[in-house]
Amino acid sequence: MNIVLLGPPGAGKGTQAKLLEERRGMVQLSTGDMLRAAVASGSDIGREAKAVMDAGRLMPDDVMIRIISERIDDASSAGGFILDGFPRTVAQAEALDRLLAEKGIALDAVIQLAVDDQALVDRIATRAKEAAAAGERRTDDTAETLRKRLAVYHEQTAPILPFYREQGRLHMIDGMASIDDVARQIEAVMAAKED
Ligand code: AMP
Repeated sequence: MNIVLLGPPGAGKGTQAKLLEERRGMVQLSTGDMLRAAVASGSDIGREAKAVMDAGRLMPDDVMIRIISERIDDASSAGGFILDGFPRTVAQAEALDRLLAEKGIALDAVIQLAVDDQALVDRIATRAKEAAAAGERRTDDTAETLRKRLAVYHEQTAPILPFYREQGRLHMIDGMASIDDVARQIEAVMAAKED
């Protein structure tokens, strides 16, 4: 089964993707993690990504589409993929459809974790504190960058929702619930698809 997890920054996409990896043997494809690895490696893309991420903006669509297309076949055959952080624009969603059609790979469900903005501000503050305590501070987890990332989410990423709704693929779940409850809601969507 191949799915997309959608939702604003801090909605819990990464947490849920990790649970799906453990429970179902699926593969998380987190474009944010890929970009952070590129930053750590000091590559050209990494240098560009650091500036873009710290400003709370988005990387160019063509770069992201290339990165995803390199990984998606292996993930799909390994146990199914969970796209986390991609697509983030309508252009990326359209490119993903084309890419999957070319490769003959199905996208089974698009699951939106609905969370309100104030809860996200609180969650990111907690995540920043936890990461700082573990010595792995994310330079984009600051109040100012979060405001910018939320604005970018509403302007550029939220328009993906009607795109997938019109395709009949969108499932909205309550991302404000506990981690276990959100996991149960995701499981219910996936189980219905497997019937
Ligand atoms: P994330 O870990 O998914 O919150 O991503 C962290 C940052 O990486 C984002 O704020 C963007 O700057 C960048 N990024 C991640 N995924 C994408 C994408 N699909 N398109 C453009 N930029 C992205």
